[in-house]
Parts: sequence; C-alpha cells; structure tokens
Amino acid sequence: MSRAHNFCAGPAALPVPVLERARDEMLDWHGVGASIMEISHRSAEFVGVTERAEASLRRLMGISDDYAVLFLQGGASLQFASVPLNLAEAGDCVDQVVTGQWSKKAESEGRRFAQVNVAASSALDGFTTVPPQSEWQVNDDARYLHYCPNETIGGLAFHWVPNTKAPLVADMSSTILSAPIDVSQYGVIYAGAQKNIGPAGLAIVIVRKSLLGRARAETPAMLNWTVAAENDSMYNTPPSFAIYLAGLVFEWLEDLGGLTKMAEINSRKAGKLYDLIDASGFYANPVERQSRSLMNVPFTLADADLDKTFLVEAEAAQLLNLKGHRSVGGMRASIYNAVEESSVDALVAFMQDFEQRYG
Ligand code: PMP
Repeated sequence: MSRAHNFCAGPAALPVPVLERARDEMLDWHGVGASIMEISHRSAEFVGVTERAEASLRRLMGISDDYAVLFLQGGASLQFASVPLNLAEAGDCVDQVVTGQWSKKAESEGRRFAQVNVAASSALDGFTTVPPQSEWQVNDDARYLHYCPNETIGGLAFHWVPNTKAPLVADMSSTILSAPIDVSQYGVIYAGAQKNIGPAGLAIVIVRKSLLGRARAETPAMLNWTVAAENDSMYNTPPSFAIYLAGLVFEWLEDLGGLTKMAEINSRKAGKLYDLIDASGFYANPVERQSRSLMNVPFTLADADLDKTFLVEAEAAQLLNLKGHRSVGGMRASIYNAVEESSVDALVAFMQDFEQRYG
C-alpha cells in the first residue's frame, strides 16, 4: 500500500491510525455484527459514539457547559444562512468582516436574511491583509459580528481574536482544532468537517446557550440550532458515519497530546514552507507576513508558464492536490493536522529541486 502526500484543501487527508481503526471496525463494530453506519442512530451504541465524540471535543477545545455542541449537515455553507436565521430578524443589522472568498460568500448569503454592514474588507488589496480592528466600522446595534479566522483560498489568517460588543461568530472551517483557542471569546463557532475534523457531510456548531431560542419564526427546523440542541443533534437522522469518524479523529488528537502539541507541529510545518518561499527568489506568497495561514499556504512560481510542469512533476513524486484555487491560480499546499511533517519535508525538497532545475 502506498499513501501519497496529500495537500488537498478539503476533503483533506485524514490521520492514518483513524483510517486503520475505521477499517478494522468496518464489518463488525464492537461485536454488534454490523458497521456503525448500519445501525440505528437511536441505538445505545450510536448514542454512545456521539456522546463520546462530543465529550472528547469539549476536552480538546475546553468547551464549557455554557455552550451547546451541535453535529449538523449541510456543510459550513448552510451555516452562512443559519447564522442570520438563528440570531437576527430580517430588519436587524449584522456586522460582517470580509477578508476572502469564504467570508464574502457568508456576506452574500447574510444579505438574503439581514441588513449587512461590512465592518471591514480587504478586497481592495486582493485579500492579502487583515484590516486592523482600529479601522473597523461596526454598527452599535449589530446582532453579531461574523468573520472567517482562516481564509482557505487566500491563505490569510487572523492571529488575534476580535474584541466586539456584539457576539462574535467565527467560520473556523479550515482552522478548528489546529491550535488552542479560548471558546469563551466567541458566541458561535462553526466548521465544515472535511479539513480538520473528519469526512465531508458533517458540520459542527458550538453555540453559547444564551444565544439559543432567538431563531426567527420561519426558520426551517433543520436550520434551527435550538431544535438541534433540544434533540441532541438527532432531530432527524444525523450523518452517523461522519460523526463516528470525527470521534476517532478527536481521540487521535487527544492521544497525540491535544491542541497545544498540534499547534507546535503545525507551526513547525508551516514554518518550513514559508522559510523556503521567503529564502527563494522563485517562489512567492502574497499575504502580509503577520497574517499568513498555518493551514493553507498559497504560493506562485516566478514564471506562471511553469505551473503545469510543476504540477505534473509533483504528481509524479506523489505530491498531490497542489493546484491553487481557480480564483487565485498558482499553487496551494493545505497542511492540516493530518498532513504529516514528513509530507511537508517531501514537498520542501521537491520545491528546492524544482527551483534548481527551472529557476
Ligand atoms: N468556509 C470556509 C473557510 C471553507 O474553507 C469552506 C470550504 N472550503 C466553506 C466555508 C464551505 O464549506 P462547505 O463546503 O462545508 O459548505
């Protein structure tokens, strides 16, 4: 068996020990005579899986009882609509900070359901900077402030947490579980699973309980966080296999030493790539230094005509999914938790060699 070095932005690499365990448990989960995806979501076995997954996530992130943890479907994109539906009436003002393609999508979706005030945007510099909070124009009556701490496409990250009067809502799809955070600074944290959590098909919402009960009347039950919380995320059939696998990922993270340890590894991995890019006249990264993502590292080659050769040769060297997003071009290495440091080392060696031959 050979596993390639996988730099996909999502669905992304999963930890090998997790995949091995899922393989071993696939035909007969803990003696029940069926896999976990073949039994009722209301069975004691599956309810136990969900409870253990939630408990593990709470330990990892330090989530207190003041917060509900919801396992939902529809990906992070559905939360772009769920956030305003759960927290604002149609005429209410909401603040949104726009620093890339994902927060921009959240903004457009937000406009369908509320009065959006763009408190800050870095569109003018091509989303390569994070506007300092001193320049934000927030609305005093905003129901919440939405932002995206890690822009997956642009590779732009906030390395600080905004300090807001309105509850802070964060799309953490591509940064959740990559480093410790203080959950109590947020009203709502949400994330699609397919990067640092598990397979696609699951979204996690962590919501301060005092923000529940505010959904507007016409909110579909499936989008209503309060309904989800009251039904322990089982208002309907949940994505059971994805929840099970997420639970295994959480256990893997705990065994590894938790988020402090993970952050140390992640910062070393990203450092290796940025050091190489900065030391070279051949590769470049457009993002301001203090706002570079540790999860998604976009880079360009000095001559874009070499992009295709780079990708073909990379693939031959088992370095997969390095093509940048179609909206920005160039390359992007996504180096989430499950991407091993040895994969980053292999990429660095390949990039050095490529530069020597073509630079
Ligand atoms: N937000 C961010 C930051 C993302 O990276 C993505 C997906 N790449 C999304 C939202 C959308 O997620 P989903 O596909 O789960 O709807």
